[in-house]
Amino acid sequence: MMRNGIIFDIKKFAVHDGPGIRTTVFLKGCPLNCIWCHNPESRSKECIKILKETKVGENTFTFESMIGQKVNTEEVLLEVMKDKIFYDESDGGVTFSGGEPLMQPSFLEDLLKTSKEKGLHTTIDTCGFAPRDLVERILPFTDLFLYDIKLIDNELHKEKMGVSNETILENLRFLVSQKANIIIRIPLIPDITDTEENILRIISFLIGCKYNGKIDLLPFHNTAEQKYKNLQIENQMKTIKKDVDSSEKVASRFTKAGFSVSVGG
Ligand code: SF4
Repeated sequence: MMRNGIIFDIKKFAVHDGPGIRTTVFLKGCPLNCIWCHNPESRSKECIKILKETKVGENTFTFESMIGQKVNTEEVLLEVMKDKIFYDESDGGVTFSGGEPLMQPSFLEDLLKTSKEKGLHTTIDTCGFAPRDLVERILPFTDLFLYDIKLIDNELHKEKMGVSNETILENLRFLVSQKANIIIRIPLIPDITDTEENILRIISFLIGCKYNGKIDLLPFHNTAEQKYKNLQIENQMKTIKKDVDSSEKVASRFTKAGFSVSVGG
């Protein structure tokens, strides 16, 4: 049965969301509430109306804009398949991102299964906060997991993201034990996730669960200010500046621990 869901964007010719040239489909809804989120419009599961401003000469106009679109699997795949020739030539495929794609379980499962039926390489970009049975269900149809790890200290995780990290870490242990293809992604948030203590604890956790895949470090960008304004919510990271040295320091920690690491995904 074809499934319906809500997406908020489709990005063509994506080159940072998995191997080769890809189309990335952004599903709405996220169970986390990261204070540094650069896609705050993605968090609600529903379509939402926002007020946008635009300037024409001296005049400022305010207009309503809808974020989110109700679609079904067939419509999404029709769009994705338009670029199949580029995926085939570059070993690319389709990536399902968000928000958190696992927040729309039946829709995501159907998207992944249908993509595999059409011969596509499938990737999901996930924060890992999802029931185990769902992770088990999608595993056979997911060629690559881009799996975010942010903070190992659980109290800090709750404070900065609103949820415990236990499920996230357990799901990662499970996926590693199943020999899933995983790339760990770590957003480097100044003085929150990029601290020496957190990085050493992440390394220790990954060694403990026998993860030996790649690490992608994602440097902090404070580029979502206008989105926060449009949504009329406070941007708690507004004054935080990117620490240029942080990614190099963190990368060298991972390299010394024997991991293959790249900056920027
Ligand atoms: S997991 Fe990603 S989409 Fe969700 S709140 Fe955090 S940064 Fe935003």
